[in-house]
Amino acid sequence: VPVTIHEAGTYPRHRVCGEFIAGLRDETISRLGLAPALRGTLRHREVAWFHRDTALHVQRLPEPALGVSRHTLDAALAREFVERGGGLLTRARISDAEHPRPGRVLAYGRRRHMRSRWIGLKLHVRDLPLTRELEVHLGDSCYVGLAQLPDGAVNLCGLFRRRSLGARGPELLLRHLRAAGLPALAARFERASIDQASFCAVAAVDFDRRVLRDACIRIGDAAAMIPPFTGNGMAMAFQSAEAALAPLIAYSRGECDWSDAVDATHAALRRRFGARLWSAAGLHSFLLQPKRQRILTALARARLLPFRTLYTALH
Ligand SMILES: Cc1cc2nc3c(=O)[nH]c(=O)nc-3n(C[C@H](O)[C@H](O)[C@H](O)COP(=O)(O)OP(=O)(O)OC[C@H]3O[C@@H](n4cnc5c(N)ncnc54)[C@H](O)[C@@H]3O)c2cc1C
Repeated sequence: VPVTIHEAGTYPRHRVCGEFIAGLRDETISRLGLAPALRGTLRHREVAWFHRDTALHVQRLPEPALGVSRHTLDAALAREFVERGGGLLTRARISDAEHPRPGRVLAYGRRRHMRSRWIGLKLHVRDLPLTRELEVHLGDSCYVGLAQLPDGAVNLCGLFRRRSLGARGPELLLRHLRAAGLPALAARFERASIDQASFCAVAAVDFDRRVLRDACIRIGDAAAMIPPFTGNGMAMAFQSAEAALAPLIAYSRGECDWSDAVDATHAALRRRFGARLWSAAGLHSFLLQPKRQRILTALARARLLPFRTLYTALH
């Protein structure tokens, strides 16, 4: 099936992302032929949880999460796509992206939520020793993930309530850490060497409780964005592409019309992601709001949090 991707940006480039992929299984990797692009990724098995700089719990993941830089992964995917005969147009923004057209698949990422209170910030650093290959720190209206990357750097990425802190770039991230009651993490960050070029930020970000339904085939964040603490957004992007394959192939062979392909894809996404999105949205406020964080941390300390059951619901 001939495919052309219109990409507004270029490759390689840094993205705001925790840079660990949880819940991506072998069947999706093999169905989409992702193995070459995922070569060299790390396998993370444990997550150290912290609440306001205090160690809380070490979670053993039921399945490894993949550790990879988006700078590397997105460029590798683009290369693979072109090598297999795909047409890739970069710096090619589609201006009427929302316009439904037979054969057009929307994969343009998250939708803008202009009233959102959230900002995502990320940066690569070196010389920042980790207690585990993944750390998650809960602060005041924020959480921050630290993830080991294959090249020895550490990715530091947080979702913060937006505050006017009069700074830009890495200094903005540092001030958000301090304002969120994470001074020890801020001090570790200050001692590390910073890769200035890797800094990026996203605003107007919000999360979905259900898969968006309209007259288009949507995949990835364009269909539904899951809260980032799950580390499941990239897996959902791949899984939604997998779910759209059969309807798209049937359409391209003239076996169904476009509206049937749209309906079949939407039904598959709803089946696969409905419960996951709902669970993630429910848990998200417990990670962000100080009062609810206290409930969560008390349960974790009493060993009453069913980490494995939650993992299954969220992935
Ligand atoms: C703070 C934060 C942390 C996260 N951490 C993680 C994590 O640790 N693990 C994880 O798996 N996920 C994480 N995510 C989510 C993850 O980044 C997304 O789920 C994932 O990138 C979705 O992939 P996508 O292809 O749908 O969208 P994107 O990766 O956003 O790609 C969309 C592409 O479309 C292009 N585009 C946009 N508009 C147009 C247009 N009109 N015309 C042409 N091109 C266009 C963009 O340039 C972009 O390259 C995180 C997200 C945030 C905000």
